[in-house]
Amino acid sequence: MGRFDNYNVDLKGLKAGSLNLNFDLDNAFFANIDGEEFQKGAVKAVVTVSKNRDVYDISFTLNGTVVVPCDRCLDDLEIEVAAENALKVRLGENYTEDGDIVVVPEQDGGINIAWYLYEFIALALPMKRVHAPGKCNHEMTGKLKKHSYGSFDEDEEAVVGEREIDPRWEGLKNIQIEEDI
Ligand SMILES: [Zn+2]
Repeated sequence: MGRFDNYNVDLKGLKAGSLNLNFDLDNAFFANIDGEEFQKGAVKAVVTVSKNRDVYDISFTLNGTVVVPCDRCLDDLEIEVAAENALKVRLGENYTEDGDIVVVPEQDGGINIAWYLYEFIALALPMKRVHAPGKCNHEMTGKLKKHSYGSFDEDEEAVVGEREIDPRWEGLKNIQIEEDI
């Protein structure tokens, strides 16, 4: 049995009405999928398949969390996922895409949805993936800053800056401001 055989959805064998499938996607699943965006998580997937004429509508409801590297400090960052998505599939000659419909060979009679599960979660992730202000790994951001030029969030810079100000300089800063006026 292949790693993702559990994710084969038999379309040809679908009886009248609809089919509900539940999957618990865990770290092992995401590690096996080996996607670029993330490799760890815990997501519950509810998949519903229904047939309308010769088109199968597959809907996905995804809820859980995934772990991505923080854009700022590279430490693990847990992100909540709540996504809905849909796929239209019909049986045909060859594996291809026809507009927004995926065509799978009649002889296969079904579709493996493992990669779609991963991809729909990846699509739901925000562009900016950073810890809440002050929650980054400061040791790491300090190291990274030395090798980069202004790619860090200004809020975070401010927090780090304030902490690093030596109280003895605090007075000098005020004097300088007075001189400017
Ligand atoms: Zn961070």
